[in-house]
Amino acid sequence: MTADALTRFTAAEQAAALAAGEISSRELTQAHLERIAAVDGAVHAFLDVDAAKALADADEADSRRRSSDESGEPLGELAGVPVAVKDLIVTHGQVTTAASRILEGWVPPYDATLVANLRAAHLPILGKTNLDEFAMGGSTEHSAFGRTANPWDLGRIPGGSSGGSAAAVGSFEAPVAVGTDTGGSIRQPAAVTGTVGVKPTYGTVSRFGVIAMASSLDTPGPMGRTVLDAALLHDVIASHDPLDSTSLVDAPRGMADVVREARAGRDLTDLRVGVIAELDGGEGYHAGVVDSFHSALELLEQAGARVETVSLPHLEYALDAYYLIMPAEASSNLARYDGMRYGLRVEPETGPITAETVMAATRGAGFGDEVKRRIILGTHVLSAGYYDAYYGSAQKVRTLIQRDFTSAWRRADVLVSPTAPVTAYRFGEKDDPLAMYKVDVTTIPANLAGVPGISLPSGLSDGLPVGFQVLAPQRADERLYRLGAVLEAALEEGWGGHLLDRAPELEVK
Ligand code: GLN
Repeated sequence: MTADALTRFTAAEQAAALAAGEISSRELTQAHLERIAAVDGAVHAFLDVDAAKALADADEADSRRRSSDESGEPLGELAGVPVAVKDLIVTHGQVTTAASRILEGWVPPYDATLVANLRAAHLPILGKTNLDEFAMGGSTEHSAFGRTANPWDLGRIPGGSSGGSAAAVGSFEAPVAVGTDTGGSIRQPAAVTGTVGVKPTYGTVSRFGVIAMASSLDTPGPMGRTVLDAALLHDVIASHDPLDSTSLVDAPRGMADVVREARAGRDLTDLRVGVIAELDGGEGYHAGVVDSFHSALELLEQAGARVETVSLPHLEYALDAYYLIMPAEASSNLARYDGMRYGLRVEPETGPITAETVMAATRGAGFGDEVKRRIILGTHVLSAGYYDAYYGSAQKVRTLIQRDFTSAWRRADVLVSPTAPVTAYRFGEKDDPLAMYKVDVTTIPANLAGVPGISLPSGLSDGLPVGFQVLAPQRADERLYRLGAVLEAALEEGWGGHLLDRAPELEVK
């Protein structure tokens, strides 16, 4: 088998081949590094690839497997399967930038807890993936180090902010990847690249070592090409972490078993599916997106689910509340980039050199436009005269949205909507920030409520992938995986394979 063919396998298939002794982690990791060398010039999913480190990780995984074969000590299922990590997540000894000039060249002295979990489970880290600077954006056009392209059409956005992770998985450069979701940054890039992305219940995956954007919303999670692969990675990165004060003690795990069981049974008879009335099409939605969503609903009914419409009236205000709360928290989190402690330090060209002038010069040079816009907005809404009017009101709206969800769960076990109102747009098409923000209308409610969500591909609209979103109550992540597994099986039967089989071949260098 050629190295390139290995990269086409799902993570679960790669894991099975490793367990059967048919391939080594070194071969597998090498195959992905070759794929990256061949296509990443065009895709630019990665900001940093450390081949030597990845191969050393792979050798370690291979040697662990040999000793586990001898001792009978169990090895995690994904041991030896390579992974890509969003560059918002700190990695000991490997440059971490948040795609910002202000952290250019910064080498963290420690691992994020989720990275430590990856290492403990022996997943070789291929490299760090591109994002919108500090995860602020929905297109990966706002990276300080160049944009990432969508593997389906290199002239279009891969979504964001975890666009690098989505593109890496969608172009077979990595079988699975880690992203973060503050307002949709895992689910929306998954949707527009035809991949699967999960935002677990807030607190499931530790935020320790995940560079903070908006702490009450930030949620790291898994991305892959199948629901099972996302579940396998979920089970590796989810853990209780005393270093994160909002970490759940009993974080939902065991998701891979849920997927396997659901896929085998393909039965949703006891599941009540609520279609979110406020997110079921209308102004700003592509017709093809809505059509694909409704065809998927029919498949759910065929699997026995009871589908009805449920209204969450305050979702109308979700975007406004998010774009006050998120910048407020971000402006406070980003105060630490002061030119003294991390990364970039710029001294003013003229005038006195004081802490304040160095700070101003550093932040002026180090932050991009989108980040500055949000810091200014966040500082304004937190300022004494405006706090109650803006930040205070937004928090009240957040509570109303949380209550909407609480009452919706009385009528439905899961809620569904299109993941994004549109498919991948062309670079530059949404230069106006408000136009970009509006795409988040479908994903933001889950972050405000802290509930888990999955996006999986439901089909194509004008040749571009469409995402189907499922939300569940806090800690009921297994419902996402269950519905996702059944829907995926039904859809793939219709397509005669994976949706990504229909993506145009990337030109190989
Ligand atoms: N697109 C949203 C924003 O720009 C979401 C970002 C995120 O989830 N990190 O804020």
